[in-house]
Amino acid sequence: MGKPASRSCHAPEGDPLSAPNADLYARYVNPELAELLRVFDYGRDYVRACGTRLWDIDGKEYLDFLAGYGVHNVGHNHPRLLKTLRETLDAQGSSMLNMDAPQYRGSLARKLNSLTHPDLCRTVFANSGAEAVDVAIKTARRATGRSTIVACRGGYHGLSIGAAGLIEDPLYNSLHGTDSKDVRWVPFGDCSSLEVVCRGEKPAAFIMEPVQGEGGIRIPADSYMEQAAGICRRHGCLFVVDEIQTGLGRTGAMFATPFDRVLPDILLLGKALSGGIVPIAVAMMTAGAWKRSFGTPWACNLNASTFAGGRLAVAAAAECLAIVEDEDLPACATGRGAQMAGKLLELASRHSIIREVRQKGLLLGIEFRPASGLLMKAVPAWAREGMYAQVICALLLRDHGIVAQPCTLAPNVLRVEPPLVVSEIETDTFVAALDETLSACPDHGAALASAFRKRVLGKSL
Ligand code: PLP
Repeated sequence: MGKPASRSCHAPEGDPLSAPNADLYARYVNPELAELLRVFDYGRDYVRACGTRLWDIDGKEYLDFLAGYGVHNVGHNHPRLLKTLRETLDAQGSSMLNMDAPQYRGSLARKLNSLTHPDLCRTVFANSGAEAVDVAIKTARRATGRSTIVACRGGYHGLSIGAAGLIEDPLYNSLHGTDSKDVRWVPFGDCSSLEVVCRGEKPAAFIMEPVQGEGGIRIPADSYMEQAAGICRRHGCLFVVDEIQTGLGRTGAMFATPFDRVLPDILLLGKALSGGIVPIAVAMMTAGAWKRSFGTPWACNLNASTFAGGRLAVAAAAECLAIVEDEDLPACATGRGAQMAGKLLELASRHSIIREVRQKGLLLGIEFRPASGLLMKAVPAWAREGMYAQVICALLLRDHGIVAQPCTLAPNVLRVEPPLVVSEIETDTFVAALDETLSACPDHGAALASAFRKRVLGKSL
């Protein structure tokens, strides 16, 4: 979108340490991203966070309706989490020895087992969602001796080489490095296509999200997971459920998978698992999947990763699970989410630019209609697709101090994903701010024209 800032790292002008923080980021980290953020007035430096609130370096307060893309379910810097982390550090326990069998890891794995399905009794620790997805791919291929992975159109599983190969979008898929010949895609929610691919291709695994997050907050029929699991079982392919974004209360239950009816061979968790302070993700699997893939003395350590399952991360995850349970955050997500959906539907009845509102717990998507009209001829196709939602987010931030973002793979969908501790006053503030912004910016033409005026001429929105 933006022209890359062409500054040299080797010959910074003046003292780089006294330059504004945005400059340091542009100079030494990612000039193109810094430029993109600048275009949309996003380049703020947030220095403090608490609950649903953020503060930037100038002391301005913001309301967080993104929660780091679903990381901060318990709210930023939850006091119980901070206390646990401090106590864990003060205890000066061992960590990352990588030649031990620490009980704290076993204890977290047992807790996760008790919260999910009794058969998910092997846990591999990882440092990110994508790494856990890679574990699932490795497990499925080793367990079945097959190579093809079936994924869903619109699915997002992270950006490691393996995980990016599962994303159908060519830009992301190119990260896979090969032609992704070993990946097939089926429409999300469509069991007939899954059946056909499974029968024809004999895949190693089928991976799906219970609700597609980055794909546009897409919610399948209630029976989808159960039917998909049955198809996988019949064709000897592992059923992998990616709850990295939906887990830990987000969709109104501790997990979006109905474990009384559905047993995944592999369940992936990450993001909110440690409350957004210490990285941790896990791939939980059945004893059968484990035994067939890594259950031998020579293969049992093939998922080793130096930092995975470190003491601090595990302590954070254990505390985080306790907070979600003690504060009954799934119930908060159910109640607050339904309340918000009602108010957003009322908004949709007055703003024809809203095509649909989708909601499960506190994972909501507001889909805008495609841009049309004469003005659009001057706007490139990529901007026509997704810029309106981005412009709305830029205005929510600038005029109302609200942090929100469209979905990564569905840029015409504004995602609403606040910490689960959000109050009714705060959700009402969001709805009122969106109402005002849409009223001021009622069509794509005007919004895009003003965005380009700002981008090209440097004048404000
Ligand atoms: N799976 C899902 C469903 C996600 O939403 C994401 C990230 O957004 C990932 C996997 C990748 O997680 P990470 O960014 O921790 O690698």
